[in-house]
Amino acid sequence: MDFEAYFKSELDGLHEEGRYRVFADIERHRGNFPRATRHTADGPREVTVWCSNDYLGMGQHPKVIEAMKNAIDHCGAGAGGTRNISGTTHYHVLLERELAELHGKESALIFTSGYVSNWAALGTLGAKIPGLVIFSDALNHASMIEGIRHARCERVIWRHNDLNDLEAKLAAADPNAPKLIAFESVYSMDGDIAPIKEICDLADKYGAMTYLDEVHAVGMYGPRGGGIAEREGLMDRLTVIEGTLGKAFGVMGGYIAASAALCDFIRSFSSGFIFTTSLPPALVAGAVASIQHLKVSSFERARHQERVRKLRSLLDASGIPHMRNPSHIVPVVVADAAKCKWISDILLDNFDVYVQPINYPTVPKKTERLRFTPTPLHSDADMEHLVEALHSLWARCALARAVA
Ligand SMILES: *Cc1c(COP(=O)(O)O)cnc(C)c1O
Repeated sequence: MDFEAYFKSELDGLHEEGRYRVFADIERHRGNFPRATRHTADGPREVTVWCSNDYLGMGQHPKVIEAMKNAIDHCGAGAGGTRNISGTTHYHVLLERELAELHGKESALIFTSGYVSNWAALGTLGAKIPGLVIFSDALNHASMIEGIRHARCERVIWRHNDLNDLEAKLAAADPNAPKLIAFESVYSMDGDIAPIKEICDLADKYGAMTYLDEVHAVGMYGPRGGGIAEREGLMDRLTVIEGTLGKAFGVMGGYIAASAALCDFIRSFSSGFIFTTSLPPALVAGAVASIQHLKVSSFERARHQERVRKLRSLLDASGIPHMRNPSHIVPVVVADAAKCKWISDILLDNFDVYVQPINYPTVPKKTERLRFTPTPLHSDADMEHLVEALHSLWARCALARAVA
């Protein structure tokens, strides 16, 4: 086989469908979020980042940076091993305590990313609990889907956020089979939020465990940043809460919080937890500082919500249609892969506005979009500049304008 020719022809296919991914080459500026330097063939340019998942700017927070530097000064660069073989530092122990406490659970377990935490936890539960049936929301993140697939257990996909469909599928399953319902709180592409309480009610009725991915909510919702389940007083009803340290907490890593026995079970049986080098102490120390700060400071959360409202109101005033949702994510649907890419290229090249186009398969075809994530650090001037740029492009692109 001509491997090179095969690789190239597959890539040509992506180009033709307008969904070949091009990464912007950027450098964030310490203490100057959301500004970054973008490296181009014509030299560096300053851009404003509008699509970061560092939702609260905590990746630039002085306390977080200081904690990370101190940890490096104190104990060097890497952890030096897997968790089992010399890689459990005191920082890791403190972080797991911090996370268990944040979610009101007995225990927590950290992984190298949120992706790995979903993959490993769902994969292990599905593979090791005899006969487990996993009921998975149709729009669950790739990491959950891959974990469930890896488990090779029975899986039932229910219509997104549809309680009737979930109940019909729970009722149709073998009443004696062990069950787990896997879903997210904030879905990151549409910004909609799951009916967590009602899903927990169904779980109780059918004897199922619940597994909630709060990746797009931890740090940002709830009085202490415990997520939507904390805000709604539901944390104790969830069997597993999964989160990331890489989005609102601004660093890197993932985790689950659950009972002591469940965490110990994953710790003891999950290949993706055991056979990999543990996170560097500096990352862990940064995460602890970030979580501790957001447990007591609601300033960032309040300012974040205010900035989201502000951007929405400017878009409304300008007639740019955006998806209504109850979260901090502001999707502007372009509904055409080529136009979506074209708009984002012009925003970047002519307006120094960086927003990555979101195309299939991340979202369904004909719902291609720009996904704006305003942070507490985006100023009024940043927003006005963005909306003016969109306004001028909308006319050139002949896209439907919302009736103001
Ligand atoms: C980003 C994301 C993850 C993965 O988290 P990382 O820490 O970035 O690996 C998991 N679930 C959802 C819903 C996500 O959007």
